Amino acid sequence: MFEGEQTQTEQRAFTGQLPAPSATSRTLAEAHHRYRDLDDGEIADYIPILAEADPSWFGLSFIDTTGRAHEAGDVEVAFSIQSISKAFVFALVCQARSHEFVHERIGVNNTGLPFNSVMAIELNDGHPMNAMVNAGAIATSALVTGETPAEKWETIRTGLSRFAGRSLELDGRVYRSEIETNQRNKALARLLESYGRIITDPLDSVDIYTRQCSLLVSAHDLAVMGATLADGGVNPVTRERVVSAEVARDTLALLASCGMYENSGEWLFEIGLPAKSGVAGGIVAIAPGKGALGTFSPRLDSAGNSVRGQRACFDLSRALGLNLFASSPEPPHR
Ligand code: GLN
Repeated sequence: MFEGEQTQTEQRAFTGQLPAPSATSRTLAEAHHRYRDLDDGEIADYIPILAEADPSWFGLSFIDTTGRAHEAGDVEVAFSIQSISKAFVFALVCQARSHEFVHERIGVNNTGLPFNSVMAIELNDGHPMNAMVNAGAIATSALVTGETPAEKWETIRTGLSRFAGRSLELDGRVYRSEIETNQRNKALARLLESYGRIITDPLDSVDIYTRQCSLLVSAHDLAVMGATLADGGVNPVTRERVVSAEVARDTLALLASCGMYENSGEWLFEIGLPAKSGVAGGIVAIAPGKGALGTFSPRLDSAGNSVRGQRACFDLSRALGLNLFASSPEPPHR
């Protein structure tokens, strides 16, 4: 306590409240209007079928921790979840194993390198580093509960469905398009195997990982899934507990440091929220205790993050007061 600050002793810091529901909905509609004509970035085509996406698709959804939805644009268009699945599979593995286990076996530090980097493995003595890059995600999918690959896949499909509050289905065309062309992910898995860092058949793990990436979601689903992490592991729409509060916390910590790949630092500096993106154009950004944004627009920047989605999250984080690091003294009337 410093001299002259006695009057402050009863004050506590707080991170603010959401604006009124009507203002929140209006803010989303404005952000949608502001960026719907932005045409920067490229649609991912290294998974051939993703190139068929309509570049004009753009949806913004925010679900608060009471389960209320605020939405604008194409929030019901289905697209493959891709890397965003990594966040929720990590949560399922954390729940089934432990905080210490995932820390030690997978790791929680950013590689500073692209999501499909071989060099990251080589530079770190075969350690996958974190569950948000492909190597770490493939190793994480091998740790999911189940005796056989089919059981592990079912654990993932039903687990992610509980986060979404509805039964999620695999898009067979996306799965086949990726499994026929993902030699690089197979090579990453074999490299992990050579270092003794993967516990099952590496190609089985790549197969499970590819299936999880092919699950179809909408921007609305992403917002519900994220809001479950924002709500301490309880889905605010179905009221079902999906993971513990500790697992939700640990997952958000990992997303803050690693969710936006090598751009995670810049993202946190500008937007201040744990988040995860996928190459089909989805982003989920989570404001603990408040809610989550689900965005969808297929054009990506060079790191593989949706351009319109990032711009919208930047504006909405500010306009809705979501930034985790923005605190101020609690107003006396509260
Ligand atoms: N399935 C994609 C891959 O493994 C996911 C990558 C991503 O969304 N960044 O390349």
